[in-house]
Amino acid sequence: MEYAQAAADAGLKILGFSDHTPYRFPEGYYSHMRMYPGQLAGYVRDVLDAREAFRGQMELPLGLEVEYYPKFWKETLTLVRDAGIEYFLLGQHWCGNEMDAPYNGSPTDREEDLARYCRQVMEAMQTGLFTYLAHPDLIHFVGDEKVYRRHMGQLCREAKSCGIPLEINLLGLATDRQYPNPHFWELVAEESCPVVIGVDAHAPTAFGDSATEARAMEMVNRLDLKLLETLPLRSIL
Ligand SMILES: [Zn+2]
Repeated sequence: MEYAQAAADAGLKILGFSDHTPYRFPEGYYSHMRMYPGQLAGYVRDVLDAREAFRGQMELPLGLEVEYYPKFWKETLTLVRDAGIEYFLLGQHWCGNEMDAPYNGSPTDREEDLARYCRQVMEAMQTGLFTYLAHPDLIHFVGDEKVYRRHMGQLCREAKSCGIPLEINLLGLATDRQYPNPHFWELVAEESCPVVIGVDAHAPTAFGDSATEARAMEMVNRLDLKLLETLPLRSIL
């Protein structure tokens, strides 16, 4: 409710919620950045309560930021569809199935890590279920620039052919993370991929941060990126 109020105060007309998806990991594995499956119903209730409270003033689509983990994919779809989730963002923070792979945001100069990230993201996009790709440049590759361009260029072309917009992530921009990565956004410009700007609000104060929004718009204008004016939500059914 606090997020919805802050977004309404900042003048937003639509606010999509996209908390991190829960997975039924094996006993003994703890995933620190997501709710447990048993908490999903509470999340849904909170968003629907806010939707009711802001009816007529702001739309509140109910989504999740989903990792594409092949091992858990089928049962994850069942879990979230049953819960009434309406749309997905793709956010691939780990490769493999999380338990068996390093965090994609850890620096690596190994081409195989980069290639694996791109392969998994492309496979996910081909499902046709994702509304956009969040922080596509999360992968923190510190090796050869030519290798980076080859793999990430392929990812950009695949996103474009799947019709999936790429997100300029305002949280990364505001907190000086490794993303947005300027090399990546040059590729996005070269490939003329559709682009969106995502707030990635981890606190209600994230809305109305006009200084960070201005930095994102400077990037869009300087590189002549194809910023979408509207974002159609893809059905997950
Ligand atoms: Zn994320």
